Amino acid sequence: MQREIIKTIRGVAAADGDGVRLTRIIGSAELEMLDPFLLLDSFESDNPNDYIGGFPEHPHRGFETVTYMMAGKMRHRDNAGHKGVIEAGGVQWMTAGRGILHSEMPEQEQGLLHGFQLWVNLPAKDKMLAPAYQEFAGDDIPLEAFADGQVRVISGQTEAGTVGAVKGTATNPLYLDVTLHGTFRQEIPEGHNGFIYVIEGEVAGVPQKHIGVLGQGTRVALSGTGRFLLIAGARLDEPVARGGPFVMNTRAEILHAFDDYKSGRF
Ligand code: MN
Repeated sequence: MQREIIKTIRGVAAADGDGVRLTRIIGSAELEMLDPFLLLDSFESDNPNDYIGGFPEHPHRGFETVTYMMAGKMRHRDNAGHKGVIEAGGVQWMTAGRGILHSEMPEQEQGLLHGFQLWVNLPAKDKMLAPAYQEFAGDDIPLEAFADGQVRVISGQTEAGTVGAVKGTATNPLYLDVTLHGTFRQEIPEGHNGFIYVIEGEVAGVPQKHIGVLGQGTRVALSGTGRFLLIAGARLDEPVARGGPFVMNTRAEILHAFDDYKSGRF
């Protein structure tokens, strides 16, 4: 059964970190979450005032953050000694697990900074695992050409069999970056929630800079001209307790996370 677009949303202007201006696409009043996706932010500006403050040191626990850069560079560093720079076309899939303290700062003082950060929830059994990273430069992300365009496979598998760079994550996510002039077809398992985010052009009736939430089914056939992200993941169907940078199952676990953070146990 084909999945159809059931809702189209623009996202809302927001600021986070030290004054970074962004568009909150998932995680706002309009679309609070799309299990397992807790948040999707887009940042896109060539005005340094919109991004130069970056995201100074802050904690995470209980989920994964996925940073995908379209343009510009972002430097990250955590309290366990892990550091690096995510450059245009690159992805960092960070499993925060039981917790990290990190900073994410633009590695530039001018020019275009454009990218996305997606938060993917972890099942209760994985929330307190050790933190882990999967990081790939743009050249190391599989690229598949097809009749009507091309697809960069960050995670998951295309119908032609191209397997994504990021593997072994809990919600079996699909994360594709598709450039299209025609039709793109993809299986998405029953039990996954999914959406497209149109970066440029118009795809499946969803205009540029809008998210189109997919209904249930087993496949999509998306037609249009443009560039879009196609993202899907297995629903967890577990209670969600959110407290700023922590996402757990119960309020008590959130309070525990704040206590661990304040007591220097991250
Ligand atoms: Mn962060």
